[in-house]
Amino acid sequence: MRRKIATQELKGAWRMHRREFLGALATSPVMLVMSGCAGSGRAAIDESGSVMTVLGPVDAGTLGMTLIHEHLYADLRPYAEQAGNPLSPPAEVVDVVLPYLRDIHRLGCRTLVDCTATTLGRNPALIRQLSEASGLHMLTVTGAYVAAGGRFTPSYVLDETDAQLAQRSIGEWRNGIDGTGVRPGLIKLGVENDLLGDTERKVLRAAARTHLQTGLVIASHTGPWGDVEPGRNGCCAFAQLELLGAEGVAPAAYVWVHAQNEVQASHHVRAARDGAWVSFDGFRPGQEGAYVALIRRMWEEGLLDRVLVSQDAGWYSAGQPRGGEFKPFTPLFTALIPALRDAGFDDEDLRTLLVRNPARAFTIRVRVRQS
Ligand SMILES: [Zn+2]
Repeated sequence: MRRKIATQELKGAWRMHRREFLGALATSPVMLVMSGCAGSGRAAIDESGSVMTVLGPVDAGTLGMTLIHEHLYADLRPYAEQAGNPLSPPAEVVDVVLPYLRDIHRLGCRTLVDCTATTLGRNPALIRQLSEASGLHMLTVTGAYVAAGGRFTPSYVLDETDAQLAQRSIGEWRNGIDGTGVRPGLIKLGVENDLLGDTERKVLRAAARTHLQTGLVIASHTGPWGDVEPGRNGCCAFAQLELLGAEGVAPAAYVWVHAQNEVQASHHVRAARDGAWVSFDGFRPGQEGAYVALIRRMWEEGLLDRVLVSQDAGWYSAGQPRGGEFKPFTPLFTALIPALRDAGFDDEDLRTLLVRNPARAFTIRVRVRQS
């Protein structure tokens, strides 16, 4: 019964979001932006309301069950080493990765967001190949990752202005990435200090400009990790939200990536109340209790419709034999979903978490901050 009431509330919330969504479409500047893409070589298309996959735009309603934060292939060598000795994914990557994708397709998954950042081995052509082979929708990223102590930060991110960095991303959106024709479906950042440094502020401003031009959501890997004092991870997210807000971007355009590293649940609640997406995205078998508790707290606060879940699993690691130890994508389906059901979450709740929220989060739509 308790659950039934919640379901009604959620249905109401979904209807409300749908109205907001349709209303926003009518006034979205994306149409105007896309119409202004002179020289891009493509006809002007209104892509608002779609999700940009590596095979092109699809209706957000067709995404189905979605893993919102995973990795297929990554190069975790320092960027200087990557630049000095570039490695292309070997042909065996497809052999190694494809069975893991087929496993989740069998379990009902239909979309996978590859959150591998631009300088951590992002490879749009490979993702497209794996999308075609697996039948899964897939998304790739644009943006800049400046976390991990700058280990993956290329010199152009240090040298260029926010406007120049935004132009890089907007160029990828308009023309595709590195000549592949594959266009990004989100802006991925990596930021790790609650007192944002100059470079972090710059890439956030660049992301804000990119969002306002493209309608792509901003998903930001947010540190520091859980071994520092409680509250720091959330403070980093709030600092980012404040900066984005000052640039005119609404919280609904922001995904707080790795929010599970914040131990103060009140911070999750505050971010979600503000309208941000709260992403619990590092699930591993054995963490069922912790993840159910995180999600239940949000449900109790009436905020299930701001929560995203995933595993940060995968990936074939460049330079390692057979890509090293690949973490499968199945545990969310075989361990977390059953645990959520045991805890009383019903089909509607699961649909909200795994189908509706991802579709809403990754829909191409400019979210302007209301003052
Ligand atoms: Zn990740």
